[in-house]
Amino acid sequence: MLKIGCHLSASKGFFKMAKECEEIGANTFQFFTRNPRGGKAKDIDIEDIKKYNEKAKQIGIEVIVAHAPYTLNLAAKDEGIRNFAKEVLEDDLKRMEYVPGNLYNFHPGSHVGQGEEIGINYIIGILNEVLKKNQTTTVLLETMAGKGSEIGRNFEEIKRIMDGVKLKEKIGVCLDTCHVNDAGYDVKNNIDKVLDNFDEIIGLSNLKAIHLNDSMNEIGSHKDRHQKIGEGTIGIDSIMKIVKNDRIKELPFILETPNELEGYKKEIELIKKLY
Ligand code: FE
Ligand code: FE
Ligand code: ZN
Repeated sequence: MLKIGCHLSASKGFFKMAKECEEIGANTFQFFTRNPRGGKAKDIDIEDIKKYNEKAKQIGIEVIVAHAPYTLNLAAKDEGIRNFAKEVLEDDLKRMEYVPGNLYNFHPGSHVGQGEEIGINYIIGILNEVLKKNQTTTVLLETMAGKGSEIGRNFEEIKRIMDGVKLKEKIGVCLDTCHVNDAGYDVKNNIDKVLDNFDEIIGLSNLKAIHLNDSMNEIGSHKDRHQKIGEGTIGIDSIMKIVKNDRIKELPFILETPNELEGYKKEIELIKKLY
């Protein structure tokens, strides 16, 4: 069963997001755990979660993806910035236990000129502090486009982080189709080769979610500008080959395209029609 959904606003709570899924034909979704600047998260509303659980069951939501504020930087040079990132992760992972057994995605970070070696070590250090044996959430490293000093610009860097993490069963990867295109992987012409490469370096069993985005830019541009499905350089045929690929077709596919709800609804309809 195809799991398809999109990024939704969490400002009105979980039940509202499930209702929106119902409206647009989605059976999974992604949301920011707090505003992108990383401010204080809203208090968890138990009543809201109860109503959400019922609705989620009714419309067949099996898994959802939380996204950390993208401004967090676990690899920062400044200790205060790294500590802030750690505190946000810790708090978010506690809150995730109110919706147990789901995925929590974050951008590995930017080494801001220190070099990726130092950056990767900072990321590993924080992950080893915040991951807990008894948590039910799987934390995902997102594959990045490699703009600026972003870490996670190739599968090797993601693997180096994973190698340093002690609780390996708590960590996985989210592959963003726009990001890997921009990073230089040929998802347009040869998704199978990209997945072979992922399998060889990281292991496909560690792949837990797909961010399904077209790209405004050419392969290898290191830009990270998402485009609507079928309107970018990847194109609808290649997008459908990705969604239908046997090795990943059980994963949740999350659209992060430049759309409002109505646009997402159309993209989901199109993908389901072609599936
Ligand atoms: Fe992201
Ligand atoms: Fe993404
Ligand atoms: Zn992006």
